[in-house]
Amino acid sequence: MADGDAATVLACTNEPPHRFEVGNRVGVAGGVLVTLKPLDPPYPSRDVFVTNRELKMGYDDVYKACFVCVDGGRKETAIPIPKAEIAV
Ligand SMILES: [Zn+2]
Repeated sequence: MADGDAATVLACTNEPPHRFEVGNRVGVAGGVLVTLKPLDPPYPSRDVFVTNRELKMGYDDVYKACFVCVDGGRKETAIPIPKAEIAV
């Protein structure tokens, strides 16, 4: 937040959506660990693993299940993460 980066806000497909900010991105074997920080309500951040294969697919976004929804017992929703936000 203090790094001057205008953070992109992501939202899951729930209604109302959960909103997330992209935190750290760490390149690991086979992909990238992306930290998603829920914005409201306060909720612990979580790392999602995006594989290199997902990054090579011909879409602008990579979809990950919303862990706030999953933890709340809601059925499947997804958070679209723009690949531009994932690149390390
Ligand atoms: Zn959600």
